[in-house]
Amino acid sequence: MKLNYYCSSPSCNKLNSIKVKSNNRYDLKQEIGLEINEPCKYCGSYTKRHINRLHASSNYVIILGGLLLAILITIILWDFGFISTLSGSIPIAIWMNQEKKASAFNKVLLDD
Ligand SMILES: [Zn+2]
Repeated sequence: MKLNYYCSSPSCNKLNSIKVKSNNRYDLKQEIGLEINEPCKYCGSYTKRHINRLHASSNYVIILGGLLLAILITIILWDFGFISTLSGSIPIAIWMNQEKKASAFNKVLLDD
């Protein structure tokens, strides 16, 4: 899961992201604790954030991977003389799955 947050430095305020293994905030608490304290990619100043304030977004690398897979399948099927709807539905299914995972993550907040 890719999590986004804004740099706390008022002069910077750029969007940063961290990659985590967890798919929800309960697992995330186990993985990294209740707060992050990460250096900004742009200005280097550290941002402290409660994990409730991190927002998940779709992983476009995975979606892009699905798109490449679809192109590959289309090329393979092309040799057999037909084009499958499969090649179009794979990236869409992967994208929807990513969106679902991200919104599920964002919906659930920790109580403490
Ligand atoms: Zn910054």
